[in-house]
Amino acid sequence: MKNKMEAVVKEKPEYGAVFKKVDIPEIGPEQILIKVESTSICGTDHHIYVWNNWAQNNIKPPHIMGHEVAGKVVKIGNRVKKVQEGDFVSSETHIPCGHCYQCQTSQPHICKNLKILGVHQNGVFAEYAVIEEVDVWKNDPNIPKDLTSIQEPLGNAIETILPGNVGGKDVLITGAGPIGLISIAVARVFGAANILVSEPNKYRRDLALKVGADHVVDPANEDLMRAVDDIFGSKGVDFTAEMSGNPKAIRDGIKAVTAGGIVSLLGLPDQEVSLDLTNDIIFKNIKLIGVTGRKMFSTWHIASNLLKSKRLDLSPIITHKFPLKDFEKGMKLMTENNCGKIILKP
Ligand SMILES: [Zn+2]
Ligand SMILES: [Zn+2]
Repeated sequence: MKNKMEAVVKEKPEYGAVFKKVDIPEIGPEQILIKVESTSICGTDHHIYVWNNWAQNNIKPPHIMGHEVAGKVVKIGNRVKKVQEGDFVSSETHIPCGHCYQCQTSQPHICKNLKILGVHQNGVFAEYAVIEEVDVWKNDPNIPKDLTSIQEPLGNAIETILPGNVGGKDVLITGAGPIGLISIAVARVFGAANILVSEPNKYRRDLALKVGADHVVDPANEDLMRAVDDIFGSKGVDFTAEMSGNPKAIRDGIKAVTAGGIVSLLGLPDQEVSLDLTNDIIFKNIKLIGVTGRKMFSTWHIASNLLKSKRLDLSPIITHKFPLKDFEKGMKLMTENNCGKIILKP
C-alpha cells in the first residue's frame, strides 16, 4: 500500500478547506482502516467549511473533514472482532467513551464525553479513513452502494419521526434540507396520512413533493399557521418534526400541534429560542422531544431494513455526485440550498 492519500483538510480556523496529500493513518488495536468508496456531505460539514459561529466555538483545526461514509476494510487492529478485511462497512459517527453514566446505561449515542468523527477527530473525506470498532456497521449487500453512506442521516430522520407514532396521522415537517427530505420519506413509509412541509427554498419544496409530501408551503411568503388551518382545520397536526432550527419555525411548529400532540426537535437553532410554555406546551399537554444521533445500533437496523427491503426510496434525495476533489462544488450548492444529499467519491 502507498503511504500518502488525498484528503479534504480543514487546515485553518477560517472559511474553506483544502484538498491535499497527507499520510495514510496508522490504526490502534481497536480501530479499522477502510478504503473509502462513498461519502456524503452533512450540514455539519458545511458549517465547518463556512466556519460559522458553531464551528468557531467547537472545532480545532487541522483535521480531515467528513463523517458519512461507506468503504472496504483494508486493515484491522489486533483486538478487532466485529469485521474482517474485505468487509464493506459504514460507521456510526458518535464515538462513545465507554465508561460514563450514559455509556453504562445503554445510551452510548449521548455519551457525556462524546467525540464525533470528522468533527473532533480525523474524518472520512479522504481515500482512507480510520473508524472505531465500537462504531463499525457491516453493510447489507442488497443496499445500493450510493445509499450506504446515507444510513447515518437516515438514522437521524428515523429517530425524529419514530416518537411521533405517525401511522394514520397528520404531520407537519418544518425544514426540507437533506435530513428534512429524508424525514418526509420516512414519515410516508411509517404510514402518515397527510404530510405538510414548510420550506422557503423552491428547489427543496419540489423535492419534498417528489419524496412524499402532500402539501408544501413557503413560510417566507405564506402564513404557515393559515396553511395548517386550511388543510387540517382547527385541530391542527398530530405531530411536528422540526428540522430547520429556525426560531419562528420552532414556535409555529409547536403552535400547529393539537393538544396532546408530539413535537420532535432535530434542527439546531444558533441562539436561545423563547417559547410560550404556558399556552403552547403546558396547557396543551405537548410532548417535546430533543433528538440527537442514532441508537447504537437499533436505529441502524431499522435504516438498513428499510433500504434493503426497498420500502424506502431515497434515490430522488441524492441530487448530486462529485469526485472528492470537487468538494467545493458541493459546498457551494449547500450554501445556495439548491440540493438534496450530495455524494463525494474519492
Ligand atoms: Zn451527518
Ligand atoms: Zn460515555
